[in-house]
Amino acid sequence: MSTAIHPESLMMSYGYKPELSEGAVKPPIFQTSTFAFKTAEEGKAFFEVAYGLREKAQNEELGLIYSRINNPNLQILEERLCLWDKAEQCAVFESGMSAISTVMLEFLKPGDLLLYSLPTYGGTDHFINYFLKSIGVECVGFRANQTKEEIIELVEQSGKSDRLSLIYIETPANPTNDLIDIRMCHEIGARYSSGERQVYTAVDNTYMGPLWSSPLQHGADLVIYSATKYIGGHSDLIAGAVLGNGEIMQRVKTLRTFLGNMASPHTCWLLLRSLETLKVRMEQQARSAQEVAKFLEAHPKVTQMHYLGSLKPSSKSYDIYTRQYSSPGAMISFEIEGNQPGAFRFLNKLKLIKLAVSLGSTESLVQHPASMTHVGLTQELRDRIGITEGLIRLSIGVENHEDIIADIKQAFASN
Ligand SMILES: *Cc1c(COP(=O)(O)O)cnc(C)c1O
Repeated sequence: MSTAIHPESLMMSYGYKPELSEGAVKPPIFQTSTFAFKTAEEGKAFFEVAYGLREKAQNEELGLIYSRINNPNLQILEERLCLWDKAEQCAVFESGMSAISTVMLEFLKPGDLLLYSLPTYGGTDHFINYFLKSIGVECVGFRANQTKEEIIELVEQSGKSDRLSLIYIETPANPTNDLIDIRMCHEIGARYSSGERQVYTAVDNTYMGPLWSSPLQHGADLVIYSATKYIGGHSDLIAGAVLGNGEIMQRVKTLRTFLGNMASPHTCWLLLRSLETLKVRMEQQARSAQEVAKFLEAHPKVTQMHYLGSLKPSSKSYDIYTRQYSSPGAMISFEIEGNQPGAFRFLNKLKLIKLAVSLGSTESLVQHPASMTHVGLTQELRDRIGITEGLIRLSIGVENHEDIIADIKQAFASN
């Protein structure tokens, strides 16, 4: 899978053979549910591999069988996504939530212990606290500011340390940009792993996106994306992805086959198109975010910034930041004066920046975490992690940064 050519140079061609599609430069949409076998023997051979009855021969590719198992658009997309994260294998799902829930269902069984970082995406939090708990999975959350020793103490206090099966973290965390040390989580996992029992670490890297961090290189076993965000990048589809080594991904892909939650050929085709511009989009978004953050930082009505480019070099977060990330990304949260009324007045005045949840798209998006994406959290948890009534989350798009800043300026002026 590794290659000396940069991923962005391969996004237009990698994994696709025009000669198999009438010479078409771009992969057509393989809008088909099933694939004809040349002979019965070929069908038998394909199924033996798909169902794990025999290992693939050298150079043998999994033959096309049925679009719940594989489809050219799905396979090409998965091969291209592997390049960004330097992963052996990828599985694409019909949503970020289906990617997350499939990983949790595969690696957690009733009686097991899940260790996870707080806060997580609202849907993830709901799946953990309502679904996993209902099937008897013990779930213990920790916060970004807790030390390794404190986290180990939480695992011990649960009384289930021998059943720890998955460490699930979201870093940078949505919406506060809190950072979690992936290497530390890997070490905690190693401490509780034994020969037959491996504790895997899964990282939701949606908030940063695939360009400027490679969690697998820092000790993660699985990296997860809501591909709805930066990867899709145009607010026109819902999808998810999981990446990791061949052995782990075989388990994830097998469960996907039987849950049937793979992405459709059309969604995969849209994502292939999105990937061609992933780097130019994200680089522009991060450049503009830097300008917008500079403006916000200097604004008298802004009382606090949550932007990775504003971290103090002496902080613990800065140390994690320099090790795990090579850009501050394009997500900015900030607090403004006046609590919820002040925040709502500001939000209602914005014109260019759209008031909507989601992030990572070409258009700038703004929302109010305390009453929108994170309203499902308890007040106590919101207070502990800094999701205040004055907090605003901003996702920077590809508009000219001067126009984004002018929009923010006029919204503040009339506030
Ligand atoms: C949006 C999001 C998800 C869920 O993804 P969907 O594609 O909406 O299912 C998961 N994690 C994070 C961090 C997200 O921002």
